[in-house]
Amino acid sequence: MILIDAVTKQYPDGTTAVDRLTLEIPDGSITVLVGPSGCGKTTTLRMINRMIDPTGGRITLDGRDIREQPVTALRRSMGYVIQHAGLFPHRTIVENIATVPRLLGWDRHRARSRAMELMERVGLDPALAKRYPYQLSGGQQQRVGVARALAADPPVMLMDEPFSAVDPVVRKGLQEELLRIQSELGKTIVFVTHDIDEAITIGDMVAVLREGGRLAQYAPPAELLSRPADAFVEDFLGVDRGIRRLSFFAAADLELTTRPIVAVDSTAEQMAAATVAQTPYLLVTDTEGRPLGWADAAGRAAGDNSLIDFGHGFTAGTDSLRAALDSAVLSPTGWAVAVDREGRAVGVVAQETIAAAIRAAHAEQSPADARAQAVGA
Ligand code: ADP
Repeated sequence: MILIDAVTKQYPDGTTAVDRLTLEIPDGSITVLVGPSGCGKTTTLRMINRMIDPTGGRITLDGRDIREQPVTALRRSMGYVIQHAGLFPHRTIVENIATVPRLLGWDRHRARSRAMELMERVGLDPALAKRYPYQLSGGQQQRVGVARALAADPPVMLMDEPFSAVDPVVRKGLQEELLRIQSELGKTIVFVTHDIDEAITIGDMVAVLREGGRLAQYAPPAELLSRPADAFVEDFLGVDRGIRRLSFFAAADLELTTRPIVAVDSTAEQMAAATVAQTPYLLVTDTEGRPLGWADAAGRAAGDNSLIDFGHGFTAGTDSLRAALDSAVLSPTGWAVAVDREGRAVGVVAQETIAAAIRAAHAEQSPADARAQAVGA
């Protein structure tokens, strides 16, 4: 565990960048430092690997003051990833990734095979190994940055706005990749961002900092969304926090009905049997069961074969209530389509049923309460 214990950093010009900050950073999880520009995030991160020294308080790693060990050893136990990746421009990708292993004295062959293994781990085509950084896209360079930081298998990863310079689509891919890698490697990651959505997406714990380097709230993302500590946090979270909080509830318990689902080649009798009182619509699928669109049952009986767009489905087993609600809201019929991993319709669910599930989720307990109970149990 990394403990930031009443740490203050005052720069020589009198700026207080961090003000008596205390944070317990748990092992094996992602802790995000988030807040507006200038609130002391980078300063905090750099104090953890001693690129900056605090002017007050102390930082311990597994109970030991980080000043007690040589700074080189400390930094080798901490991978460091920055915006724009900071790659060496005159070294190939594979050489960039092998940098730390080579510094640690690994022979060329071993360092190289480790680098190739990491390229695969971070989702980079091995064919890029011999290229130079300028020959890669921004997103690919960031992946190289992550691979380089992972090369010596450090227990801790410090990441300073690593995905801020790439476009939103690439960024989402990088976030997903980081979560996937983390689920395999279980590093202790401290991640700095100014983007609250990124913090909520990837953080197990989120520390919201305010100007002057003071801690506003430290909580799991679902708790931030349900119980912001004050107006500053609430404002920083932005609009839609109720909707965003639904991401933390599974759609798995929604009661689905298969009754109104008909294949495109169904007979008139089959269609008549599928027509139910609650919905005047039938979900028409292709012969493999993939949804094509909604049909007006009465219209279809009268020979009208036109379909109403169903928007998009949600994946029954893995998606959240937010995804299910979005699917229902986008569907002109007000019914959401649940699909399996292959995209085949497994059921439909009405907006009203989803609304009832949302109310039940509220009534039951907030995710934060659930977590507190799990910890206490
Ligand atoms: P963030 O990462 O949240 O944007 P920083 O940690 O970079 O914030 O900076 C926190 C505050 O400290 C800012 O007001 C910044 O201007 C100030 N600061 C950062 N580095 C220095 C420095 N070397 N000297 C003086 N002030 C600094």
